[in-house]
Amino acid sequence: FIIPEFESFSKEIEEIYWKCKSNNDGKVASYIPQLARMNPNYWGVSICTIDGQRFSLGDVNIPFTLQSCSKPLTYAIALDQLGEELVHRYVGQEPSGRNFNELILDHNKKPHNPMINAGAILVCALLKTLVKPEMTLAEKFDFTMNYFERLAGGEDLGFNNAIFLSEREAADRNYALGFYMREHKCYPEKTSFRECMDFYFQCCSMETNCDIVSVMGATLANGGICPLTEEKVLGSESVRDVLSLMHSCGMYDYSGQFAFKVGLPAKSGVCGGLLVVIPNVMGICTWSPPLDALGNSCRGVQFCEELVKKFNFHRYDNL
Ligand code: GLN
Repeated sequence: FIIPEFESFSKEIEEIYWKCKSNNDGKVASYIPQLARMNPNYWGVSICTIDGQRFSLGDVNIPFTLQSCSKPLTYAIALDQLGEELVHRYVGQEPSGRNFNELILDHNKKPHNPMINAGAILVCALLKTLVKPEMTLAEKFDFTMNYFERLAGGEDLGFNNAIFLSEREAADRNYALGFYMREHKCYPEKTSFRECMDFYFQCCSMETNCDIVSVMGATLANGGICPLTEEKVLGSESVRDVLSLMHSCGMYDYSGQFAFKVGLPAKSGVCGGLLVVIPNVMGICTWSPPLDALGNSCRGVQFCEELVKKFNFHRYDNL
């Protein structure tokens, strides 16, 4: 086993869990009523190792929407289907140093990276327009959801239509980003702007839970092979690229500090989800809705910081 003493390991995780539970910092996202209504006390942690050992604690079966945690997944599909060279003709690899939804492009008038809204909207355009272009939006939705499900070992994902509709209503900034990119001819030819935006909102509105997302993390930790099904869902080059950008850009404008303090690839979402990958070891998902000023889950960030205090999971431990 990759974690030989899994039971004592789980005990230590449990201690960190309870420590973080008493953290009452942060505010639940309030830009749409469906998120504002989230109970701030929800707190779940799930772990899945690359050899399929699992441990879960707290609110791990309550559904939440992926939101920005979908960004590394759509990016992974785009890489896998189109190759790194083509994808990065359209989107950069640089942290933006700004908020996730800021109206800004890089010096080449490309979105900075696929982990912020502009980049993720663009990746959705690539998926919609260049990957199997004959597919309708409905077919592309199924195709994408199926990919997500295979990353999760065949677990069914849900779709939260109320959140999708609200996201689309409250999306002035995302439309502004979308139009700004259209002005700068960022999209591949023949992109349907409306379909691309809808597809982005749909990816954000896919619904999962902690348990399921930890398996997705384990698939990424395992070079694209799902530890539960042994299916090779993604090529290892694609996984390497995804983890690289999660490491440098996955935590909004906290990414640099997170890379320094925690040293692990991670991606957070506005719903309070946090997907963390310990390469060659395990996937972790934490979920707790209250967010700090930069948009990361307060308990989730604390959990990661405590985790690397106890274990030598920081990328530059063990040197
Ligand atoms: N739906 C959100 C948005 O597009 C997702 C962003 C996030 O999770 N930070 O603004």
